[in-house]
Amino acid sequence: MFKSVHPVKSSPREFNRVNSNENFPEMEKKWLKHWYEKGIDKKYREKNKNCKKYFSFLDGPITANNPMGVHHAWGRTYKDLWPRFYNLLGYRQRFQNGFDCQGLWVEVEVEKELNLRTKKDIENLVPGDPKASIAKFVQLCKDRVSKFSKIQTEQSKRLGYFADWEHSYFTMSDENNYMIWNFLKKCYDHGWIYKGRESVPWCPRCETAISQHEMLTEDYKEIVHESVYLALPIVETRHALSLHKNIKQFLLVWTTTPWTIPANITVAINKNYDYSLVEGTSGELFWVAKDLIDAVFGKDYKRIVKTVKGQELVGSKYDGPFDHLPAVSEVAKNYPEKFHMVIATDDLILPISVTEGTGLVHTAVSAGVEDFKLGKKLGLPMIPVIADNADYLPGLGFLSGKNAKKNPKIILDYLREKNFVFKTHHYKHRYPVCWRCKTELVWKVEDEWYIAMDKNSKFEIRNSKLKNMTLRQRMVKVAKSIKWMPSFGLERELDWLKNMHDWLISKKNRYWGLALPIYECEGDKGCGGFEVMGSKEDLKKRAIVGWNQFKSHSPHKPFIDEVKIKCQKCGKTLSRIDDVGNPWLDAGIVPYSTISEENQGEPLYNKDKNEWRKWFPANFITESFPGQFKNWFYALIAESTVLENEPPFERVLGFATQLGEDGRPMHKSWGNAIEFNEGADKIGVDVMRWMFARHNPADNMLFGYKKADEVRRQFYLMLWNIYKFFVEYANLDKYNVETKHALSLPESKNILDKWILSKFATTAISVEKNLKEFSAKDAALEIEKFVSDLSTWYIRRSRDRVWVNSDNKVDKNTFYGTLYYILVNLSIITSPFIPFVSEEIYTNLTAKESVNLEDWPSFAKASEGKPEIDEKLEKEMEMARKIVEAGQSVRKVAAVKIRIPLAKLMVKVDLTVNIKSIPDEIWDVVLKELNVKNLTVNNNFHYPKKEVKVTEAQLEKEGKLRELIRQIQSERKLKGLKQDDFINLTVPKEFEKEKDWIAKRVLAKKISLADKVVVQ
Ligand SMILES: [Zn+2]
Ligand SMILES: [Zn+2]
Repeated sequence: MFKSVHPVKSSPREFNRVNSNENFPEMEKKWLKHWYEKGIDKKYREKNKNCKKYFSFLDGPITANNPMGVHHAWGRTYKDLWPRFYNLLGYRQRFQNGFDCQGLWVEVEVEKELNLRTKKDIENLVPGDPKASIAKFVQLCKDRVSKFSKIQTEQSKRLGYFADWEHSYFTMSDENNYMIWNFLKKCYDHGWIYKGRESVPWCPRCETAISQHEMLTEDYKEIVHESVYLALPIVETRHALSLHKNIKQFLLVWTTTPWTIPANITVAINKNYDYSLVEGTSGELFWVAKDLIDAVFGKDYKRIVKTVKGQELVGSKYDGPFDHLPAVSEVAKNYPEKFHMVIATDDLILPISVTEGTGLVHTAVSAGVEDFKLGKKLGLPMIPVIADNADYLPGLGFLSGKNAKKNPKIILDYLREKNFVFKTHHYKHRYPVCWRCKTELVWKVEDEWYIAMDKNSKFEIRNSKLKNMTLRQRMVKVAKSIKWMPSFGLERELDWLKNMHDWLISKKNRYWGLALPIYECEGDKGCGGFEVMGSKEDLKKRAIVGWNQFKSHSPHKPFIDEVKIKCQKCGKTLSRIDDVGNPWLDAGIVPYSTISEENQGEPLYNKDKNEWRKWFPANFITESFPGQFKNWFYALIAESTVLENEPPFERVLGFATQLGEDGRPMHKSWGNAIEFNEGADKIGVDVMRWMFARHNPADNMLFGYKKADEVRRQFYLMLWNIYKFFVEYANLDKYNVETKHALSLPESKNILDKWILSKFATTAISVEKNLKEFSAKDAALEIEKFVSDLSTWYIRRSRDRVWVNSDNKVDKNTFYGTLYYILVNLSIITSPFIPFVSEEIYTNLTAKESVNLEDWPSFAKASEGKPEIDEKLEKEMEMARKIVEAGQSVRKVAAVKIRIPLAKLMVKVDLTVNIKSIPDEIWDVVLKELNVKNLTVNNNFHYPKKEVKVTEAQLEKEGKLRELIRQIQSERKLKGLKQDDFINLTVPKEFEKEKDWIAKRVLAKKISLADKVVVQ
């Protein structure tokens, strides 16, 4: 079925036959082959290379770590649709795709492939040689990126995505990494980079901190933990509390993370709440918030001994279950004042709830964000309890070396044995997990590197107005100057900017990532200062050792770490810190690092800023929004604010999440996930692209084969059948297209032609306007509406103008001319959405090289040779169609089939136009569609004015004739005859008078009379 290039035929040109059951995915593959073999993609990209108008689209890099899923095709459809549209409009573009390369996602997959479990395994890839091991691991990460970037490229091509695939950008490139250095250097010059000691969320498997940016709502899992109510015996009181010698009082404390109990420093209460001393069933006394007595005890207690304000409890001391462990007793000894004491909380840091728990909160300063902050404020000590992999540290006795998260029972069993447990219960809550490996997170105090959001700049060269503005304030201003689609995007971004902490940019214990160019002068050996290198040249100038070992390598571990520089303050040797960078630094820098001549080499930002300015800020970016407010959008804005204090893009189109058609997230194990290749082969990418284009991007999208079938039926096949109708009858009627005048507008007196041409121009203008406003949905729905009008009204009402149904040669030509004009122009308009079928239609009709090399058929400015927009006619035709609908429902109620002609029909409708101004040609169309001789609308309007008189017999005959023709046509179909095959026909005698007319309509060579119908 592959027909190669369509040859230009001599006139009259016969169009290639159109299949009614075309295999669309195969057709798409045919065009792909043709485009890439004939260099159509290149011609497309070079079409406007000398134009002065620029359309700057900036691609958000796809992670080159796995093959694409169908969800990737959603965004990538937009990423191709607008460049195609602007290419038709004559704008110069870069057509650059990007791949995201560095970071945990790649590392974790490589680890899985090699069956590596820990950091130690990685550093022992080459046994006994950590440096060679890291080099090998980093190379394997690069290889993985290279492998999947190739697969994704092929898949993107399959989607019909035209880009400069030879010159995609990779965030692991030297250009990208060194541009981030440049950014970090600027931050350093502002005084915004610092090392901070904080309690950070931590993945014990990946052994690294998880920044706040990386904790998205979808990275929380419903998890059941065994929570425990601890009874901590009070050993000393302050204030007015008295202790009875023989009856113990306990603080009742609730925690969902028992593994943190060895790190306990204090118990926090709210000094204004009421706390009660409750006598339990066995006579012991427990302190608990008054409001929670019922929740904790139910009915199982004897009495409330007394109730006091929380303030009264402050200063009481208690015993903890792990006080005998060396690391704990050490802290107890060094901080006798504060250790194991009841403290009043600071509501702004650690608010205490009286809706669950006991109102007394276990504070583990080393193992919780709020705990750490409270500890910092109150000067509390801390007991670090876990190592990077969450094993308990040395100094914790029987716990040391055991994993805190994997063995929760060790703690619980021990607490039970020592009678510290009041009760336990299974508690279900949303708990954060690692976004990459899904391991439950822990909290850990670490030294990490940050970019400060709330510090003033140390200097401001360009603009003194900025002098007193923090990075946060600057970013808010920049974010507000961007056009956000949907508009709630701005609120979401501002909300994040308002609430986010400083940007944690370091990743400990990882290998495959940006080498943070921070050089630190170590503690007691050096002066404690640090410096940031802004470029490879900077580093070269400052290098005192290691340059030669490094210079031919990419700025990655382990080779970058060969280079040492000299401290400018104390003269000691500075080493790069061991950490790699947060991966969002990589994607956020791309407006600066990837815009280059011919998409290759030195960034224009460094080389030719004026030229770079032509592409910056990008006119448009598009990405799935959940997550990106914290990630890509955030990083883009942050980095551009620091470098130029300008928005990196003018407009962002965010789109929601793709779900299975059952409404659930797509998961392989649920059977509703669809791999891209599978989807492309089963659905065809045109249909897929149309599904994406017509969807409201602000809403989640349900995607699956049933939805695809609906779209195929309701739009795609309708378009195909219109095209098929044209080709079939134009060939039969030997319609003569002169190629050189192919797109000249036919002059027609036929009201249907005038109407559809007006409709087409109106639609084209609206599609152009909507695409310029970046609403693919509105544009697509306009096209759908037009295609439906074209099929269900224009062609339906023009069937008697073609082939054997008409002898009017002039009218035939204007019909074909009109439909030809529309189909050719429509194929250009649909080409950004559905490039394959558009190409099929366009090339078959025009015999030209490719629809991709065309110009947009703009009707916005009326000029010669353009169809006239006749709004009045459009409204009148709309009214006519409403009248037809009303007439059809009258027939339906009366159960009279449309085949049966009627002398009179009366309808009632709400009028939207002056009925008297509707021209007779339209009324004639209405009468034909309704199969009536006389029509009365709303009792007072009659068409024709002068009633047409017909007898019952005439009507009956007409009906029978119509039925006969229908019967013969269906017989022809059953016999598999072609449109132009002649038949021998026998008809009942009663049709003797009409037999010549019949013979002509059904292409009968011979016609004879008998009792019944026979088709031979
Ligand atoms: Zn992890
Ligand atoms: Zn120093």
